[in-house]
Amino acid sequence: MDPYKKKIPITRPSVSTLEIEYVNDAIQTGWGSKCYDYIHRFEKDFAGFQGNQYALATSSCTGAIHLALMALGVKEGDEVIVPDITWIASVEPVLYIGAKPVFVDVLPDTWCIDPAKVAAAITPKTKAVIVVHLYGNLVEMDAIMEIAKKYNLRVLEDAAEGWGSEYKGKKAGSIGDAGVFSFHGTKTISTGEGGMLVTNQKEVFEKAKILNDHGRDPKKGRAFWMENYGYKYKMSNLQAAMGCAQLERAVELIAKKREIFSWYKHELTSRHYMLNPEYPHTKNSYWMPTVLFDESVALDREKLFAYMKEKNIDSRPFFYPLSSLPMFNPCNNAVSYSIYERGINLPSYHDMKYEEAKYVVDTITEFVALNNN
Ligand SMILES: *Cc1c(COP(=O)(O)O)cnc(C)c1O
Repeated sequence: MDPYKKKIPITRPSVSTLEIEYVNDAIQTGWGSKCYDYIHRFEKDFAGFQGNQYALATSSCTGAIHLALMALGVKEGDEVIVPDITWIASVEPVLYIGAKPVFVDVLPDTWCIDPAKVAAAITPKTKAVIVVHLYGNLVEMDAIMEIAKKYNLRVLEDAAEGWGSEYKGKKAGSIGDAGVFSFHGTKTISTGEGGMLVTNQKEVFEKAKILNDHGRDPKKGRAFWMENYGYKYKMSNLQAAMGCAQLERAVELIAKKREIFSWYKHELTSRHYMLNPEYPHTKNSYWMPTVLFDESVALDREKLFAYMKEKNIDSRPFFYPLSSLPMFNPCNNAVSYSIYERGINLPSYHDMKYEEAKYVVDTITEFVALNNN
């Protein structure tokens, strides 16, 4: 096949006249006494969308994870259970605190953390579990919450990739003790850079808020007087303006992601691949349509990327097991170490067309045929 006429991007934010209108308004009027208006509105709307009581806007999801872990009481020397397959930002804040990440294997179908293996990894030092709704797929939250209750662990849901997904009718990120989101330019809704922390626990929210304001506690009443140092991971009013517009378009943006996925599902008919699953008790927002090849398919993924690139298609490799990175010690997580080499993320930018999805699938099929006979 000839290369596609122009490059098919993997992701890109959807910007309508609404985003432009709000950001224009924020840049012209959102100063002085109005400098927090869009931030407060974004937090309120986001909490409403999630069905959570509290929301705190941040400069990134990484910052939100750092604040959430501290607000949940994770301290130096504690162990925090994390999935071996995720973006590294899920785990770095554990290291900032001086706590120890314990890498647990994922399930072969959802690619999310395996609850039975979480239970097996608990020690007297375990304080919390970070679960990650990978590529839009859902963590088995009931099982996780049951284990957490039994062993008195805190649960942080990293829903950066799961915004808009649902588990038994509840929004991803709304079920654990706290949930976090990212609005980086690659995510389903974007503010350029940005994040959000949600919780239903007043104490967690208040703690996170003080930590995000240099340790200032408004209840202490003395200006510029701090008892403890804090951090600053704040979102700007300009970014929040874009976030408000994106959130108003939530139904449309999630529907488009689901439509793009349905095209891949329709076109990818071979039994030798699997795509993101969706079980009856879940709704997947398909942040990233991802194809996992069977072990029977001879596949050199580096060659596949090069081939896709030649054909003007932007794709991404499945995440490496984090424990395989040089800064950690390799773990015996058989599923994680088996799937990563067989997985790739496919384009799903919001303005994508059916013929582009078909072209992506035809290109993959052609590559596999060339390499398997
Ligand atoms: C994108 C992402 C993050 C980090 O988000 P930032 O806003 O870039 O800090 C964290 N966790 C997961 C699973 C992500 O995909």
